[in-house]
Amino acid sequence: MQYKYVIVGAGITGLTIAQKIASELDEKVLVIEKRGHIGGNCYDYYEQSGVLVHKYGPHIFHTTSKRAYDYLSQFTKWNDYQHRVLTYVDGNLLPMPICARTINMLYNLNLSTQEVEGFLKGVADSSREIKTSEDVVISKAGEYIYEKFFRHYTKKQWDMYPSELDPSVISRVPIRYNTDERYFTDQYQGMPSAGYAHMFGNMVKSENIKILLNTDYKEVIGDIEYDKLIYTGPIDYFFDYTFGKLKYRSIDVVFETKDTCDYQPASVVNYPNDYDFTRITEFKKLTWQKHDKTVICKEYPTWEGDPYYPVPIDAQKKLYAQYKEKADASKNVVFAGRLAEYKYYNMDAALLSALELFDTQINV
Ligand code: FAD
Ligand code: UDP
Repeated sequence: MQYKYVIVGAGITGLTIAQKIASELDEKVLVIEKRGHIGGNCYDYYEQSGVLVHKYGPHIFHTTSKRAYDYLSQFTKWNDYQHRVLTYVDGNLLPMPICARTINMLYNLNLSTQEVEGFLKGVADSSREIKTSEDVVISKAGEYIYEKFFRHYTKKQWDMYPSELDPSVISRVPIRYNTDERYFTDQYQGMPSAGYAHMFGNMVKSENIKILLNTDYKEVIGDIEYDKLIYTGPIDYFFDYTFGKLKYRSIDVVFETKDTCDYQPASVVNYPNDYDFTRITEFKKLTWQKHDKTVICKEYPTWEGDPYYPVPIDAQKKLYAQYKEKADASKNVVFAGRLAEYKYYNMDAALLSALELFDTQINV
């Protein structure tokens, strides 16, 4: 077999590059995917009851980038869902991220937004040097909030306390003084109206794109001649674990179908201190699907299973740097995406990085 371009992995990174090659260069491209479907971790499907669910955990699209939004809008319409999360603390459901109502409910107060700012600054240790995720929270909101909302959730999620993790992990969740209870404030947010799989299907509707599913690229790559390989799988696997295995956190996503139309008061409820799971998602509240049953999922973080989250700690960064050096020396291979760059990318960031890669390394 001969292809100018071969892409390993049919996630948002691989499919974006495939779509650009097929449409803008009018070249043939082969995408090799280990799983039985395209879409990578963003994949969704209708489970037995007919409710649309996200197989690898809830995915909410949000971005400040018009470029990212416009690009995907060629392949899907959107619902205008604005993500809201509640968190279960001491028997109450409070808004997350921390905002004015969270503080008022937690401390049984009735503060204005200005007073909330003063209150939080009063309990925060603002002089603290930011070296870890623990420092991020304590410097903005103090020990009590850290303990109630972040410390134990993070331990469940990462099997490490925030004090052991890079500041970037918890910095993903803001601490606000105002009344905005949305999880993200990005200008563009929503869910693809007919789902992610449908959107990805539209992206690859081209005679130029051939997709080989259920195939680990190592089984076939020896038989394929190519000019350029774009690799979006785990970087350590590519190099046969030469320097040892990189750590990835995984999630056991457990689905339950409920014989009721409405299960919980928000699409996502976090459980920082109770149970072994981190959060419960009710999919219909994201997708706005009408159905007389509902499906939820509970997320149990684990070290077993598919690689999901690169682990942002120094030892892993150093190990990754060794692989990166080898990757940079690989002439006709480009490494891209969450697993190959060992980076905690959101969908929009993965997409933008793929567009950039196409512009700078493929369409040249
Ligand atoms: P992936 O989607 O992981 O795709 C890589 C593909 O490569 C996979 O399909 C894999 O099967 C394939 N592959 C791997 N090895 C091989 C091999 N040897 N041979 C062939 N194929 C191979 N982002 C958001 O913006 N919003 C969210 O709400 C959000 N929620 C998330 C929730 C969870 C639980 C997780 C884990 C991630 C979430 N993300 C979210 C991030 C989002 O999943 C990633 O940004 C996105 O999946 C990155 O796409 P990718 O193509 O780089 O990687
Ligand atoms: N986090 C937390 N408590 C929460 C929500 C998040 O401690 O209620 C921490 C946790 O370490 C998590 C990180 O903040 O991994 C980023 O949260 P986000 O919701 O962005 O995680 P994701 O959706 O990517 O799993």
